[in-house]
Amino acid sequence: MADKKERAKERYSELAYEKKNFFETASKKERKAMYAYAEGYKAFLDAAKTEREACEAAVALAEAKGFTEYHFGDPLVAGDKKYFINRGKSVVVFRIGTRDLETDGMRLIASHIDAPRVDIKQVPLYEDSGMCFLKTHYYGGIKKYQWTAIPLALHGVVVLKDGTRMDVKIGEDPKDPVFYINDLLPHLGGEQMTKTGGKIIEGEQLNVVVGGLPNADAEAGKRIKFTVLDYLNKEYGMCEEDFLSAELSAVPAFPARDIGFDRALIGAYGHDDRVCAYPALTAVLNEESEHTVLAMLVDKEEIGSEGTTGMQSKIYEDLMEEISVALGANFRRVRYASKCLSSDVTAAYDPNFAGAFEKMNSAMLSCGTCMSKFTGSRGKSGSNDASAEFVGEVRRMFDKEGVIWQTAELGKVDGGGGGTVAKFLANLNIDTVDLGVPVISMHAPWELISKADLYSNYLAFVAFMK
Ligand code: MN
Ligand code: MN
Repeated sequence: MADKKERAKERYSELAYEKKNFFETASKKERKAMYAYAEGYKAFLDAAKTEREACEAAVALAEAKGFTEYHFGDPLVAGDKKYFINRGKSVVVFRIGTRDLETDGMRLIASHIDAPRVDIKQVPLYEDSGMCFLKTHYYGGIKKYQWTAIPLALHGVVVLKDGTRMDVKIGEDPKDPVFYINDLLPHLGGEQMTKTGGKIIEGEQLNVVVGGLPNADAEAGKRIKFTVLDYLNKEYGMCEEDFLSAELSAVPAFPARDIGFDRALIGAYGHDDRVCAYPALTAVLNEESEHTVLAMLVDKEEIGSEGTTGMQSKIYEDLMEEISVALGANFRRVRYASKCLSSDVTAAYDPNFAGAFEKMNSAMLSCGTCMSKFTGSRGKSGSNDASAEFVGEVRRMFDKEGVIWQTAELGKVDGGGGGTVAKFLANLNIDTVDLGVPVISMHAPWELISKADLYSNYLAFVAFMK
């Protein structure tokens, strides 16, 4: 009798599927590797708060590994290690493999390096009631009320009248000043707190405080603005008109930090999607491959992948074609044989908001990087729904290398939804599926991820390149 029960238990465990917590299955050595890998990731996060900075940081890491810059038309041979910069805002890091491109295609990992933030308007500067402000226009999907009453840093570039480009980065060094968006005190917040979330703080209230010291000699009402303009002129050679040709962003000034007594988790600005971009980058930098492999770190995903630096730009297709031509291969055949992981984050199941999720098909924290067969909203609208065959193929790649991974969809059916760059790659006739790290508090100024999932994502990419 006991024997029969034992056999049934064994048989059940053979037949049934259960997610595994990567921390639980990891050896001591693996756990050490997870924590060590996270240190490099945190350093990357702190150096790369905008797409321009992420692009620069990626190039620095690539150069340290012997990768050199590629331009359209350059000859290519097997073994080449290259990076291609697109307008300083996106970068493709790639290795040329030994396998035949027309037969085996390329292995692509596509992630994005832009993140939600608060951009400065083109005519932003004014003073009012003892404070000087910059007017803003937010970028990407944010809960506006989350961006008040936290320290903000200012990042970006200003192109001066004569064409000189000045890089701006203030608020990251502990000795730097930071910036601030005001909120209303609770004592007077009665009416505010009756508003719906989207209206607690409205777009035109996201004004960033940048000064408070009046210049006594200047005209009344312009005294603090004068001090600020004088500072900007001395520091950057800027006049007020130069804001017209500037790209400045207010981003959270917090550095990436370990979360929890056990340091298992990481809090940071912009995990979405650097938690996929960094593993994609480091997989291509660290691992040799017989395949031609590309880590694509692109811009503008948060606003629809538009423009010359977003995934919909023809430049990425052009690059793949240039690589094919340089290696004597027909691009149409190459892309048909290629495979892509669209690597973007997904929502981690959060027990504090259980009602937003369907638990069985949610990404569980620390259960590994997460495959989403489809994204989109409502009836899978706007989604690249990967085929069972391709999912099966990627599944075998991961299982062969012992990768701990899971599948999920973003939230419960009709709960909302989201998209990624997957469909744009799939539209090129490239088999594509979404794979990325589960995130808690996605798009908040400070998001949370698990070190196990970060490392699992890296191992998944390495398996995909084999
Ligand atoms: Mn994303
Ligand atoms: Mn996002």
